[in-house]
Amino acid sequence: MIEPVLTIVVPCYNEEEVLPETMNQLDKLIKQLISEQLVSNRTKILFVDDGSKDRTWEMIYKAGLRNEHVRGLKLSRNVGHQNALLAGLFAAKEISDCVVSIDADLQDDIEVIREFIHKFNEGNEIVYGVRKRRDTDTFFKRSTAQGFYKIMKKMGVDLVYNHADFRLMSKRALMELEGFKEVNLFLRGIVPLLGFRSDIVYYDRKERQAGETKYPLKKMLAFAFDGVTSFSVSPIRFVLFIGFVSFFLSLLFGLYFLMLKALGETQTGWTSLITSIWLIGGLQLIAIGLIGEYVGKIYKESKHRPKFIIDIDTFSIPAPRHHLI
Ligand code: UDP
Ligand code: MG
Repeated sequence: MIEPVLTIVVPCYNEEEVLPETMNQLDKLIKQLISEQLVSNRTKILFVDDGSKDRTWEMIYKAGLRNEHVRGLKLSRNVGHQNALLAGLFAAKEISDCVVSIDADLQDDIEVIREFIHKFNEGNEIVYGVRKRRDTDTFFKRSTAQGFYKIMKKMGVDLVYNHADFRLMSKRALMELEGFKEVNLFLRGIVPLLGFRSDIVYYDRKERQAGETKYPLKKMLAFAFDGVTSFSVSPIRFVLFIGFVSFFLSLLFGLYFLMLKALGETQTGWTSLITSIWLIGGLQLIAIGLIGEYVGKIYKESKHRPKFIIDIDTFSIPAPRHHLI
């Protein structure tokens, strides 16, 4: 059997603190995999610099000069984890039989990549890395994540539980992934939709090895909200449902008070009036806001803007021909 060409794609945003260690460990791993004849010696690690403001790109570039297995893509600006990952995946697929995506912070166990390759050789097009436990995450992150999976499931979105973007995809799966043209691409939701034969590998997730999380609470919430509204219109349906319920309730109340009036009992009514005005007003604002969210999405999608722009590419074009900055 001919060994598959593997590319490991690593999106990096301001990761200068952890990058030397990441490069070191990944390099060791692929050299082992090559010597065990599990993967081809054309295997590469592709670092995608997502518009970092620190020395990330310089490190990637220089490592590429020393090491033929290290290559880099420099994006023209920060486009976020998902889009940076896509840039790497699409570039990598041209010359790879399979591609593994992994974060730069060494939270995921890189040894698992070996199992990914075995599962790929068994005929799986997609292999998901799934965290066994999440006790290295804060309680807050754990519970919000759990809530997120539950909500998504209720809305009929098929997510792989406790799977982040640590996975292997075959060339074929990546080619099909390119057919999903949406600008708001939520990979964790899209990849299961491909429907190919897939498998799961369980692993323990570690602490971030160095540097800080690039997903503070605000970004995390935005990511979750984006995930929900990209995949489902049920929030709009829910608002519609609330609208109907409050409409019929107000009809009943109206009838009740009219009846009281007919019996000669006048209501002072100020409280109920104000409360219902605020209630309905609030509901309407929520509904309009929610619809606005979807309209905004349609607006964004309709422009078909590119998801990322590659500034420097030492992956497809050999490194020495590039200038550094
Ligand atoms: N990342 C990126 N662009 C961004 C934010 C993050 O490429 O705008 C990368 C980051 O360098 C890391 C990965 O995405 O490799 C995951 O980010 P992080 O580890 O900070 O997220 P967390 O694990 O805390 O959710
Ligand atoms: Mg992390």
